[in-house]
Amino acid sequence: MLMIGTTVAGELAFSNLREAVAGGQGQVKWGYTGKEGPQNWGNLSPEYQVCQAGLQQSPIDLQQAINANLSDLQITSQQVALKIQNNGHTIQVNTDPGNTLIIDGTSYELIQFHFHHPSEHTVENQFYPMEAHFVHKSKAGNFAVLGVFLKEGRENAALNPIWDAMPSQKKSEAPILGSTLEISALFPTDQSTYRYFGSLTTPPCSELVKWIVFQEPIEASKAQIEQFRQIFPLNARPIQALNRRFLLSEE
Ligand SMILES: [Zn+2]
Repeated sequence: MLMIGTTVAGELAFSNLREAVAGGQGQVKWGYTGKEGPQNWGNLSPEYQVCQAGLQQSPIDLQQAINANLSDLQITSQQVALKIQNNGHTIQVNTDPGNTLIIDGTSYELIQFHFHHPSEHTVENQFYPMEAHFVHKSKAGNFAVLGVFLKEGRENAALNPIWDAMPSQKKSEAPILGSTLEISALFPTDQSTYRYFGSLTTPPCSELVKWIVFQEPIEASKAQIEQFRQIFPLNARPIQALNRRFLLSEE
């Protein structure tokens, strides 16, 4: 895996990265449309160059996956207090320690999850209405992100505490009082996944991410999806080239 640099520049880049992941934004303003949009991210700041120059970018279209004997996901989930923010790019829920993902012998801690409309990954060029990203970080500073598609269906009760507290305008972190959530309530029953190596889907687009995307979507009601869409009509980065990577999946 990628080593975190020990130089001053490396440390600086890493602290910016942590801020980016924690706050959903880099140092320089970016967006999803116009001059600040994804086509220009690589030109907005030297820190964002990899958004344009990188060859392991995310999201990608999930198709023609290689069937592989993938290692099990060991997910430890418990009820944690929730803190919610609208960071101007998404609705993000910051989580206290206690939810871990062990994959391929490395332990990652859940630090936050957030939502995109429409989905960022596609399956054979088809979008889902939404996608949730559960961002896990290892002690070494690498990321494992669990992606969960949301399709239109029944109301999802596990989303309600978040949806009820969702700020429609940019707003700093605030606790969702009286609410805890068992995170795994937002994961599908079927644990089959797609896996590949990629990047953050927002600037600085760092290529430090082990992507694990569940094949089975969870459901959200039309009204739940509409409530998010009203706030973020479009907060999904376009599909990136697979290049020389392998997309793996399991039966
Ligand atoms: Zn995301």
